[in-house]
Amino acid sequence: MKLYNTRTRETSEFKPLASGKVGIYVCGATVQSFPHIGHVRSGINFDILRRWLTVSGYNVTFIRNVTDIDDKILEKSKAENIPWWALAFKYEQEFQKAYALLNVLPPTYEPRATGHITQMIELMQLLIDKGAAYAPGNGDVYLDVRALDSYLTLSRQKLDDLLPAGDAEETYKKDVRDFALWKAAKTGEPSWPTPWGDGRPGWHLECSAMAHSYLGESFDIHGGGLDLIFPHHENEIAQSEAAGYKFANIWMHNAWVTQSGEKMSKSLGNTMQVKELIKQVRGIELRFYLGSAHYRSMLEFSPEALQEAATNFQRIENFLKRAKEIVGDFEGVISAPVKAAFDDDLAVPQVLAHISEALRRGNTAITENNHEQVKSSAAEIRGALAILGCDPFDASFTANAAGSADLSDALDGVIQLALAQRQSARERKDFAASDAIRDGLAALGITIEDTPQGQRWTIKGSI
Ligand SMILES: [Zn+2]
Repeated sequence: MKLYNTRTRETSEFKPLASGKVGIYVCGATVQSFPHIGHVRSGINFDILRRWLTVSGYNVTFIRNVTDIDDKILEKSKAENIPWWALAFKYEQEFQKAYALLNVLPPTYEPRATGHITQMIELMQLLIDKGAAYAPGNGDVYLDVRALDSYLTLSRQKLDDLLPAGDAEETYKKDVRDFALWKAAKTGEPSWPTPWGDGRPGWHLECSAMAHSYLGESFDIHGGGLDLIFPHHENEIAQSEAAGYKFANIWMHNAWVTQSGEKMSKSLGNTMQVKELIKQVRGIELRFYLGSAHYRSMLEFSPEALQEAATNFQRIENFLKRAKEIVGDFEGVISAPVKAAFDDDLAVPQVLAHISEALRRGNTAITENNHEQVKSSAAEIRGALAILGCDPFDASFTANAAGSADLSDALDGVIQLALAQRQSARERKDFAASDAIRDGLAALGITIEDTPQGQRWTIKGSI
């Protein structure tokens, strides 16, 4: 299998560090907003990689972190007036829901930054001992970028061209381009104790520390969105290589979802939230659309393109269902051309072309009553769709759809219905009926409160 490596700018044969095993680390979300499709594209692209490597016989350890402490989380927690940790947890749950709806397999491990402060302190100590980092005494810890030969080899920039890293008021730095591993505590912000003072992690440090904790000093693939190449991944390399680790062998970056040629951002993206789009198309259709471009190509979003992808998917799905009626149950197979396409740096557009050809052959075979051809076309399509995470017979899609974002709305609707019954029972002074409804709900853990504003309900275990 060939993969493109951002660091070498070359596509070459993939050789795992240990035979039969692949370790992958992908930068996950900073959990401070509802996920939009730009966020989840990375999840889908690397899920396809993981599925393909697994089908190719590798035992894959897949790590995707959760950034649960960050400037943006602290700002948003003030704006929403809830504690930072509650905000982070709320949006982590929203990402989990989106990943489940889109059939993104759960990572082998999903570490949170705040759960790995000890490992970050160990890494900083190592860097300070090696003379690659320094603590100026105010509680900050910085990486000394001039101490490294390999700095900027991923983004291929010149050190002298770089703008200062971080805030201009960080006057303790040896060089304005030195970046913060650790940030001194500020009033009203969360902090953790370290030998250099109380503070909180810089964003880059967590990924170096967690990748090392779960995958060791060197591992096969590090992934993330294109926008992470600089500074995030460059700084991860700096920290890890300065610590003496070989770190990632291959760097892979997925391109963006764009709108009018621009990267989808939060200001543009509110209507592009997964929870909104999932009302227009099914999860499997949204996944098919987001996974349809090559991972290194921009995906220009339009509602028309999404609808077209959904219609195309329905055509494929209808054929597979029809094939099942004709030939009975069948398994997916990976045909030689589909294998060749996935092996070529995950050439999904070519895979889709093979699916279209197989669909044409299969539909013709139905009209010709050629059952053998119906079955082989359907098996080829199903095999390819499974790698794309879009097998319509995959039970996890049905299960995830049932647990979709609308379930809480449905629950509220059902309870409101019961409350309306109780209200009308009370109005006709049928207190036995009214009490029976209240007691029935109580037995399910749902408590009714009569307030001046009307009936309110709460469910045991929720806040
Ligand atoms: Zn990261």
